[in-house]
Amino acid sequence: MQQIFIIGGGIVLLVLVAVVILLAKKRKANKGANSTNRLASSLQNEKEKSAIILGAIQDGVVLIDDQQIIRHFNQGAVTTTGWARNEAEGLDWRSVLKFTDTKGEELPAEETPIAKVFSSGKQTRNDSANMLIKSGTSISTSFSVSPLADSAEHTTGLVAVFRDVSEERAQENQRAEFISTASHEMRTPVAAIEGYLSLALNDKVATIDGRAKGYLEKAHSSTQHLGQLFQDLLTSAKAEDGRLVSHPSVVEMGSFIEQLAEDLRFSAEKKGLFTEFLFGNSEIKDASHSATSTEGNKVVRPLYYVNVDADRVREVVTNIFDNACKYTAEGKVSLGLTGNDGVVQVYVRDTGQGIPAEDLPHLFQKFYRVDNSATRTIGGTGLGLFICRKIVELYKGRIWVESEVGKGSTFYINLPRLSLQRAEQLMAAESNAQVTGSANTTAAKPENLVTPTTQPGATA
Ligand code: ADP
Repeated sequence: MQQIFIIGGGIVLLVLVAVVILLAKKRKANKGANSTNRLASSLQNEKEKSAIILGAIQDGVVLIDDQQIIRHFNQGAVTTTGWARNEAEGLDWRSVLKFTDTKGEELPAEETPIAKVFSSGKQTRNDSANMLIKSGTSISTSFSVSPLADSAEHTTGLVAVFRDVSEERAQENQRAEFISTASHEMRTPVAAIEGYLSLALNDKVATIDGRAKGYLEKAHSSTQHLGQLFQDLLTSAKAEDGRLVSHPSVVEMGSFIEQLAEDLRFSAEKKGLFTEFLFGNSEIKDASHSATSTEGNKVVRPLYYVNVDADRVREVVTNIFDNACKYTAEGKVSLGLTGNDGVVQVYVRDTGQGIPAEDLPHLFQKFYRVDNSATRTIGGTGLGLFICRKIVELYKGRIWVESEVGKGSTFYINLPRLSLQRAEQLMAAESNAQVTGSANTTAAKPENLVTPTTQPGATA
């Protein structure tokens, strides 16, 4: 009987131990499940948070993977493009995100900002990308695309962020239209006032006393300033909305700049400034002498061909040269030309007051003038360099300045250089067009050019 009790007690103990172990195991299992659940729920929270944030952004945000498939299309993208989220996600981006050129023609996919980021792996931004939305209309967008890369720097996808800026563009166009109409209309009466003031100041046609002459001279110079302001406003408005008239043709910059230097030196010499024309790396002649050497032979030098509107480039160089004279009290203004296989470089160097470093980044912006005592007394509109930049950009060129206060400034203009072969092809095409009566009159004629004895080479 006692044995039975002992055996029974042992069994109960075993059962109790087994129950305790099972309970401990279950608690452990529950603990594991709880932490997995917590992780899952926190991931879910993060996902929801990201979805809320992306949904709240008004800009379109599109995530594209390396297979060119749209993986995320937020509410902003839906509103801007007219594509429903479930329609766009899972599709190749090329069927959804289409672009047009300025004439409204659809761009080939490889020329779109998205394709460019896939091929270059570099971030891009375009403030006036024309996007073709689902309804078939083209809207103006500010578009930026950033690549996503793995640790080995391979592009694994990209994120495109865009915003409809059609309304802003329309307002800008209206503003530019107003400025250009107003300045165009105001130029005529201002020109008439300037003409009459010139007549009043002309001894041969009018008699005025000394004091009146002094007043009229001031009125005349202010009217000239006003006329220049209207002209600059008109040109900058046209430059901004792409209405700047340009008839590019082949121009040989050597002979062009040399002729221009001849025309410009008078304004510098009137102010007592010394001028020079520099060709290549070395100084080849003073602007006041002709291109031929004393023996009457042509100076042999590389031919720097570019495809530009000569009148527009004249405007740029004249503006920069005039500035150099304006902001240089004494010393020298040099006009130079150099280049290499791909670039033709024109530069204007002065020994004037120079430009403070903090002003340099803003110099080519509209209405920007350095605020110092000299500019307060020297008249100007602050539009000249803005117009210069717009013109140079028209020919895919670059303009910049290097300067040191008290020592002077050098303005550089780089233009893409045409190879001799390409220049000859274009000139032949221009002559053919002239024969058929459709060529423009500013085309450089081959007979104006110095014939090279060798293939032009780099001099810079
Ligand atoms: P502005 O009509 O005032 O000359 P620009 O756009 O041509 O307008 O030039 C902008 C400003 O840049 C000028 O107001 C002047 O402060 C500065 N600047 C331009 N060229 C020179 C120069 N060669 N030397 C010193 N400052 C210059």
